Amino acid sequence: MQLLQELIKIHSPSFKEENMSKFIQKKLKEMQIPHRIDEFNQIYNIITDTPLLSAHQDQVQKHAVEDIKIENSRIYGFNSKNKQEGLGADDKCGIWIILKLLEKYGKNKFSFIFSCGEESGGLLSKSIDLMNVDKCLYAIILDRKGSSDIIGKDNDYCITEFQNDISVLGRQFGYKPTTGIWSDADTISSYLSCVNLSVGYYNAHSKQEYIKWFALQNALNFTEKIINENNFKYEAPTISLYSNSKYDEGYEYGIHVYEYGEKLETAILWEDKKSYEYIEGMKDGYDDAKKSNEKTYEEGYEYGYEIFQNGEDIEEALEWEESTESTEFTDGMQNGFSDAESMAKNYLKAC
Ligand SMILES: [Zn+2]
Repeated sequence: MQLLQELIKIHSPSFKEENMSKFIQKKLKEMQIPHRIDEFNQIYNIITDTPLLSAHQDQVQKHAVEDIKIENSRIYGFNSKNKQEGLGADDKCGIWIILKLLEKYGKNKFSFIFSCGEESGGLLSKSIDLMNVDKCLYAIILDRKGSSDIIGKDNDYCITEFQNDISVLGRQFGYKPTTGIWSDADTISSYLSCVNLSVGYYNAHSKQEYIKWFALQNALNFTEKIINENNFKYEAPTISLYSNSKYDEGYEYGIHVYEYGEKLETAILWEDKKSYEYIEGMKDGYDDAKKSNEKTYEEGYEYGYEIFQNGEDIEEALEWEESTESTEFTDGMQNGFSDAESMAKNYLKAC
């Protein structure tokens, strides 16, 4: 928690981010992470074909935090007069996650941006060098309040496929898609698909701001899972003239649920706020994906035949396959096995 406390104690209002920028630069130097700095104190490193992580250095609070108190795993800040003061956890939580991941994975695993002036409209688009971000695979903006939000498709930050893939990975961390307010994702999404994720702070932009330590760690783990398991390229979203009906979105999501081996019933429970059409789409997408992946009678037959030849137990194999495969496949297995068995018997008789 020491790094987080150090970040909280650096006061970095918009356009006065020098101290924060210097602190991050020092950390990067210690870890031997190459980086560039632009005229606005923004720090970045863009590596082709890697995920991009982004957080902003500035905060809205006018006063510095001098003292930090931790109660029930919640972190609170206090000013020099011992009055409660906002932590600037928006977005020091995001900075913390990126530094932690750099510490663990070193310089080549992902690209990063520590932006400035985000709370005052953003400076990213003013810095020409940053236009290279479209060489990255996708972007994760770490700048959302709470503990469970994925801001993506509904804010036009990403293509549907990206939101679906992130949502499936996020389920075990309790994350799901919703809509949100302005962030650096509004700028970066012109170049590639991105999502903005919750990073564990609450009551942002106020003196009552606090961090839930476990929510922040959960956000770190989720981000780590994404960069480890997803290395696909997702283009920037095109704002369609013929926006998809909710059924189509549900349908596409249903396909992803099947492909990731998730249970449809559980996925539907998570989508409790979605429309009837969306849920119907999910079911159809799931069923169609399942059908197109189902093994045939012939494949089952061959498999059953092999089971006999290898001297294995057909009942055991059937029990195993029945839970996941179609009845055509298991019927094939049974028939393949008994044909092989009777052929062997006839052969014995003939001898
Ligand atoms: Zn923010």
